[in-house]
Amino acid sequence: MVQKGEATVVKHTGSHYLLTRIPEWNLFPAVLRGKIRLKGSTATNPVAVGDRVCYEVEDGGQAVITSILPRRNYIIRKSTNLSRQSHIIAANLDRAFVVCTIDSPEIKLPFLDRILVTCEVYNVPATIVLNKVDLYRETHAQMLEAFHSIYESAGYKVMEVSALTSEGIDDLRRECDGSLSLFCGVSGVGKSSLIRAMDDSIDLRIGEISDAHLQGRHTTTFYQIYNLSSGGYIVDTPGLRGFGLVDLKKEEIALYFPEMLKASSSCRFTPCTHTHEPGCAVKEAVENGEISYERYMSYLGMLDEEGKYR
Ligand code: GDP
Ligand code: ZN
Repeated sequence: MVQKGEATVVKHTGSHYLLTRIPEWNLFPAVLRGKIRLKGSTATNPVAVGDRVCYEVEDGGQAVITSILPRRNYIIRKSTNLSRQSHIIAANLDRAFVVCTIDSPEIKLPFLDRILVTCEVYNVPATIVLNKVDLYRETHAQMLEAFHSIYESAGYKVMEVSALTSEGIDDLRRECDGSLSLFCGVSGVGKSSLIRAMDDSIDLRIGEISDAHLQGRHTTTFYQIYNLSSGGYIVDTPGLRGFGLVDLKKEEIALYFPEMLKASSSCRFTPCTHTHEPGCAVKEAVENGEISYERYMSYLGMLDEEGKYR
């Protein structure tokens, strides 16, 4: 008797995978049948966490993954800037929580905007999570207010939380419930602390992987899905330094700033770089404050740097 089914990949190490039939959380091992390759993919891993797969299992045997169902989205990172190889971090993400702090470490808006652009490119809706508000709500009140205004007017939800005091953690749990979420952001902002604050039974040690591991040709870094006891699934991205670097053509960049994309339909010329063109609706929106000056500066910075990371 061969039994067939569909399941989600929650972890892989070497040639072994762990699957579960979400919403169940009963992990079982599986191997890949033959060589499943995605057309045109240069990925070092043909199957990634979050992938929905079909499997078969014979009586008393081990499950065998026979195919991968089409992905809704997926995020990748390059093994190195020079190599064309890439690693699929996760597939079928419902949301990315971009964790940042106004202070400790001090926020760099252009870097945050780069991560947000990456999420837009990969078609993963982003929510901004301002962690450590216990540290800077009073000392940086004006910056905090300005931050809300910049990102909420761009269309992003901004949550204030503190892994230390547990403020906002219930809200974060609610946002995570029922979906697969990615946690990203530069190191030190408190991603692991937040995940632990949401569920202290989650053991993130496995996630402590240095970015250096990714520099080799044979990638040994494995991402994993965790099951929150309050509901929902999350992927942590330790050491994801390369996240936020995507190959974009100059004329594409503005498509991934949602507020610019919206305004650009009224630009006199198409394509418009929104820099020097007369009748540019984006520049007009910046001048009258509908598009924030900070976001526009990030956009100009990305235009300047275009090509740098290819
Ligand atoms: P990660 O690199 O993003 O996973 O960050 P960690 O979770 O390792 O946290 C980095 C540092 O920030 C640690 O020393 C944490 O104790 C501290 N930290 C994390 N969250 C908070 C918070 O909400 N408030 C304060 N004051 N410190 C925090
Ligand atoms: Zn324009």
